[in-house]
Amino acid sequence: MGKGSFRSFLSFACRMAVTVVLLSGHSLVAHAADGKDPLLAYDARIAGDDARTRIVIDFDREPTFVVHYIAKPERVVVDLPATAFGFPGEKLRARGLFRDVRYGTMDEGSARIVLTATKPVKLVMAKTEVDEQGKGYRLVLDAEMVPAKQFDELVKAQSWQPSDTAAAVGPVEPVEKAAPGDFLVAVDAGHGGIDTGAIATDTKIPEKEVTLAFAKALADRLNREPGIKAFLTRSDDAFLSLSERVTIARQNHAGLFISLHADTLKQKDIRGATVYTISDRASDKLAADLADRENLSDQIAGKEAAAEPPEVADILLDLTRRETQAFSISMARSVIGSFDGQVGLINNPHRHAGFRVLQAPDVPSILLELGFLSNRDDEKLLLDEAWRTKITDLLADAVKRYRASTLANGG
Ligand SMILES: [Zn+2]
Repeated sequence: MGKGSFRSFLSFACRMAVTVVLLSGHSLVAHAADGKDPLLAYDARIAGDDARTRIVIDFDREPTFVVHYIAKPERVVVDLPATAFGFPGEKLRARGLFRDVRYGTMDEGSARIVLTATKPVKLVMAKTEVDEQGKGYRLVLDAEMVPAKQFDELVKAQSWQPSDTAAAVGPVEPVEKAAPGDFLVAVDAGHGGIDTGAIATDTKIPEKEVTLAFAKALADRLNREPGIKAFLTRSDDAFLSLSERVTIARQNHAGLFISLHADTLKQKDIRGATVYTISDRASDKLAADLADRENLSDQIAGKEAAAEPPEVADILLDLTRRETQAFSISMARSVIGSFDGQVGLINNPHRHAGFRVLQAPDVPSILLELGFLSNRDDEKLLLDEAWRTKITDLLADAVKRYRASTLANGG
């Protein structure tokens, strides 16, 4: 250690001592010590071409990390402890071997980077290095193209099972307050964590924040209705797979599932709300495209493609599905009835397509596109608190009318 670096080490050590004294007894120390304080990724860069691409991310402390490979499409997944990503998105704009770069929260204790490759790749180097200027550590990832066979071997060789944690999803908060006979509504804020959803045109606010604000407001509003208890599938910026959302609704015996979205369209003039129900065949191209994009959520987050459920020749399940489908359609009509004349609707506001998040066989489910973040007028409304209150009032009416009609029909 040279004289200069020893002096800076001393001053660093002194600063540390002062910090520890100031903070001792404070929970921050414990957090920092057991790693619960999120790491800060404060800068990043990507360089290279379609034969070799390097990604460097600067952290305030040394990150532990684990690399995995997933096929169809070829992806490199880097799992990290909880991390706050503090650099602008342009820093890691996809290039070279990667056509999509995502990073973000998975849950309270973990974050993830998902690199979707243009061709089979391998990380020939993945390591952390000390920053020479004493600003923490950097994570260096060097990717090279490899033959498809070698990529397949990488996927096969890993012991990692990227299994869905849906089975482990426990009960969610307010449900335990429900009395017998209460009508339970699962309110699902679309997207979350590493899956930001659409991005607003003017404000650049991500869809996942818009949907969470609406979901919280809607659950609060529904919980003011006697006999109705609403709960959220997610209450913070965590990632939930599509099947986890369905499982949370089913495990908590929801009588209704409402997924909230505010996507973008290429046609920026299209605005207004749409209500979707599930079907094998999409009602139209717009619905089909939207379902395709929504169904990419798991892929974006580095989940393996979900296996198609086997064709079960179960007459009872088939009947249940058909009955659930009829209830879902009735709820969609109730929402449109409430919105009509009060809220802008797109033409043919009830559409249907193969949304994975709507596939609970026994929970009537709708997906509500509140409006489009690609339309400036819709964007203003979607971020307006008064409009949000109006929407949640109208939705509460729709839920009540739906509930009354199912009770009248012995549902
Ligand atoms: Zn969405």
